[in-house]
Amino acid sequence: MMRRKLVVGNWKMHGSRAANATLLQGLLQSRPFGCDVAVCPPFPYLADVASTLAATDLRWGAQDCSVHTQGAYTGEVAPAMLAELGCRYVIVGHSERRTLHGESDQLVADKAKAALACGVTPIVCVGETRAQREAGQTEAVVKRQLSCAIHTLAHCASEMVVAYEPMWAIGTGLTASPEQAQAVHALLRQQLRAATPRADGMKILYGGSVKPDNAAALFAQADIDGSLVGGAALKAVDFVAICRAAG
Ligand code: PEP
Repeated sequence: MMRRKLVVGNWKMHGSRAANATLLQGLLQSRPFGCDVAVCPPFPYLADVASTLAATDLRWGAQDCSVHTQGAYTGEVAPAMLAELGCRYVIVGHSERRTLHGESDQLVADKAKAALACGVTPIVCVGETRAQREAGQTEAVVKRQLSCAIHTLAHCASEMVVAYEPMWAIGTGLTASPEQAQAVHALLRQQLRAATPRADGMKILYGGSVKPDNAAALFAQADIDGSLVGGAALKAVDFVAICRAAG
């Protein structure tokens, strides 16, 4: 099945109003892309990004959200607030959140569910550490992570986007080879097929040191439907080149 590709820039905790404006102008000038493109800035910039990208074909999203609807949760951001700002996506369970903030599979799945309830598409990240890969546990780890999201989302599972991000490849310059990535994507697709008849229409993104020079080979794989891009999403020329490779 031909799935339209999706490239999402995860800006992490980078940017400034001036730098963001330059980056977005660079992206806007390079349209149209033959794929869906989104950027995920830090929370304080979402309103700016929303007004710059409103009425364009570029989309935006957040890097995390709360499981709660509202209330006494200092520092958290409710999915309804993201929806109000026009966020199409929210990344949940990024490995930096899992590792640095101790987020569990169940918390990540609950965030995904809370996002969907507000009409925001969760991008659910899964991925193994280097030690887990070396111990032959990759399949078990990613299946456990995805399974929690599948069961929690239940009949809405087909609404999520999945991102496979091997932790040893994030920000390290080490990319999974196209074959290594495809092997895991195929497993994830199989797992989705067992859960929903819509699995073939779902997007499974690859993330981990995607750059202009390795993007095309990754995107040529049967089950790689685009990318979640970190470092290379901060430079317009690089991000544009990756989007073009997907288009
Ligand atoms: C990420 O953090 O989602 C990511 C893929 O980062 P990088 O592209 O920098 O490896």
